[in-house]
Amino acid sequence: MKALQYRTFGQWPEVVEVERPRPGPGQVLLRVTAAGVCHSDLGLLARDADTYPYGSLPLTLGHEGAGVVAEIGAGVAGVRVGEPVVVYGPWGCGRCRVCATGAENHCPFAAALGIRAPGLGSAGSMAQYQLVNDARHLVPLGDLDPVRHVCLTDAGLTPYHAIRQSLPRLLPGSIAVVVGVGGLGHVAVQMLRALCPATVVAVDIDDDRLALARGLGAQHAVRTEDTAELVAGLSRGTGAAMVLDLVGSPATTDLAARVAARGADVSVIGVGGGAVPVGYRTIAFDASVRFPYWGSRPELFEVLEMAAAGQIRVEVETYSLDEAPVAYRRLAEGRVRGRAVVVP
Ligand code: NAD
Ligand code: ZN
Repeated sequence: MKALQYRTFGQWPEVVEVERPRPGPGQVLLRVTAAGVCHSDLGLLARDADTYPYGSLPLTLGHEGAGVVAEIGAGVAGVRVGEPVVVYGPWGCGRCRVCATGAENHCPFAAALGIRAPGLGSAGSMAQYQLVNDARHLVPLGDLDPVRHVCLTDAGLTPYHAIRQSLPRLLPGSIAVVVGVGGLGHVAVQMLRALCPATVVAVDIDDDRLALARGLGAQHAVRTEDTAELVAGLSRGTGAAMVLDLVGSPATTDLAARVAARGADVSVIGVGGGAVPVGYRTIAFDASVRFPYWGSRPELFEVLEMAAAGQIRVEVETYSLDEAPVAYRRLAEGRVRGRAVVVP
């Protein structure tokens, strides 16, 4: 079968022929129907051999995956061949008290047990077939189109996980600022509009992304450098109740600290090398700063419910598996609108 693999440090990933895996006991083999291209993969590709935290190369990329159950290993119950599913990515041990709550994204034992997320250490979805270690990682897709919805497993789940925790702050009259209207951000804008009465301010450096945000319901869409003034004007100087920073660069974390209201939630999801300072005169009193990671299994079900109810839609550009390296290059150049999705 074909797979997109990261094979050599410092090189772009390549499409190669690899052996089609067979499901062992407890495992499920998917025929992949769609795989999302996430900005986090660019961070992975930027690591050198000394700082690479995802095990060894080669690695089949893709941590946003959808597929159809193709083969079932011995002892697997509860899934049927032909069933359309998406893959819940942040695999935990499945046995500890944290995993028991569904928050496998915070399993304290996964790393020590050598359990790695697909595409981030174990073979991912950028291939014709994908092996999934346990049927519990499969979430039914129902009638939803895999290409249009695959990226909800990360670009939907990650902002949802952050927004959900901040909903008590997002009261009528409040402001929510979304910085970076890319794969995650364009879904985040819609989630905020559907889930709370806050006024949504979308922020980007690219006018086309700002237009996309307006089209998806943001009441205001503004360039990064103009954001502080706009938020001050809208809030009579009090600031935003939530800032969702999907860039995380020094410029955007600085902005987040400046526009956060007293008692605000600041969630930094982007991993752009910035940090939000907490202390006297660096941020408003009682503001909280959070660094969310992916989301829980129940939250992924909730995100898919939002899609099924028509509350969120994903803007996608599609690529064949042979074209997948092109998708990565376009993402690196900032030229992807919404999410790039590989259809093997
Ligand atoms: P993307 O490339 O699709 O989107 C990034 C957007 O940010 C683009 O629209 C770009 O124009 C905009 N942008 C860049 N610089 C900006 C600036 N200074 N001000 C405002 N906007 C700016 O990326 P994505 O796939 O949506 O990922 C976003 C970030 O989230 C990445 O850093 C990724 O690694 C991270 N991420 C984190 C988690 C987590 O669990 N914490 C999960 C997924 C992704
Ligand atoms: Zn991701």
